[in-house]
Amino acid sequence: MIEPLALQPLPESAEALRTDVRRFLDGALAGVAPDERARSWLGFDAEFSLALGARGWIGLALPREYGGGGRDAFARFVLVEELLARGAPVSAHWIAERQSAPMILRYGTEAQKRFFVPAICRGELFFSIGMSEPQAGSDLASVRTRATPTATGWRVTGQKIWTTNADHSHYMIALVRTSGAPEDRQRGLSQLLIDLTTPGITIRPIEDLTGDRHFTEVFFDEVDLPHEALIGSEGSGWSQVTAELAFERSGPERIYSSMVLLEAWLEFLRASRSDDPAAIALAGRILVHKATLRSMSVAVTAKVGAGGSPMTEASLVKDLGTELEQFTPIAIADAIATAQANAAASARSEGGATEVPAALLRTLAYITQFAPTFSLRGGTREVLRGLIARGLGLR
Ligand SMILES: Cc1cc2nc3c(=O)[nH]c(=O)nc-3n(C[C@H](O)[C@H](O)[C@H](O)COP(=O)(O)OP(=O)(O)OC[C@H]3O[C@@H](n4cnc5c(N)ncnc54)[C@H](O)[C@@H]3O)c2cc1C
Repeated sequence: MIEPLALQPLPESAEALRTDVRRFLDGALAGVAPDERARSWLGFDAEFSLALGARGWIGLALPREYGGGGRDAFARFVLVEELLARGAPVSAHWIAERQSAPMILRYGTEAQKRFFVPAICRGELFFSIGMSEPQAGSDLASVRTRATPTATGWRVTGQKIWTTNADHSHYMIALVRTSGAPEDRQRGLSQLLIDLTTPGITIRPIEDLTGDRHFTEVFFDEVDLPHEALIGSEGSGWSQVTAELAFERSGPERIYSSMVLLEAWLEFLRASRSDDPAAIALAGRILVHKATLRSMSVAVTAKVGAGGSPMTEASLVKDLGTELEQFTPIAIADAIATAQANAAASARSEGGATEVPAALLRTLAYITQFAPTFSLRGGTREVLRGLIARGLGLR
């Protein structure tokens, strides 16, 4: 196990949580293969989420008044770091805890806060994010899904796509047009809390390159929602969604997507007593980059904890984190292949190559196939770089 790379130490009170989380994960993840753990925040396991909720580990940094743990952002950082580094299946509650609950607490009515947030913290209520549409991804302001006011609330017609877990979630927070036309861009957008069991909603899973089905397309055909479905105020959807994306981009998850692969590879090097200088240099290179990114991620956490919305800084960590996460499987594949080829070349004199464990190869294959999504989800590389340039006053 790689120890947390404490270039930037966390407060002792937060670190104190680490031992308990590790002990819990030792039991919960015993015998789970690395290629399954590598899925982590796409690993859907409602029972696991309930078990975390029972320990008070969902909504750790949310107010106690609404069922949260009342801890600070650093405690949550430690928890999330351990869950992701070990490859815990956090997908069921992930979006609800990371984005939906903070959103509802910031913009929701008192009734919405009391209804949704405690159930999210218990690990009972799962959410999805309905932003992207077939013609609106990076250019999110051009969403066409429309909600028209009715006597009883809103009638929604349109389509969302790439919606993670909509087929397993209870609710979606959707960005929709409530007034004006698509040409009005940011004006006239609102967010709705949509109960996904409402008549008129069709959800179809989409299979990705790895064969997994974690995202979906969602169709709304004259779906009637009550007035209370509106979150925040009508027409403020754009500023709300921008704040929501800051929650999405500010966590440490952007530097741990390939951690299980890295651990599995290091374990193989240790087990095979490798003294291959190229492999050792690569491990050092990855760890040094990860340590630096972790320090940056801790700094972003400090800003979020102080009530800020560090959009530029979070975008920078996500972009640099994505670079490392996409480099890691390619570099490890090269290192394994080179080591095997060298060993095979000297096989006649020294007895041949150490067999690479099948679980490591499966993990490598999964991360290699999944890695292209790292620079798409949560905002593409090019879009983030545009945001960073704007934040630095360069455009
Ligand atoms: C695993 C995964 C999970 C996802 N989950 C969700 C979810 O739960 N909810 C949700 O709403 N969405 C989700 N998405 C969708 C994701 O947010 C979009 O894929 C992303 O915003 C990009 O949009 P797009 O796919 O339409 O690509 P496009 O916006 O069409 O971009 C295509 C390419 O063009 C580039 N490009 C676009 N505009 C510019 C520009 N102005 N300047 C320079 N380059 C540009 C992009 O960087 C990209 O390389 C998910 C995506 C993935 C991969």
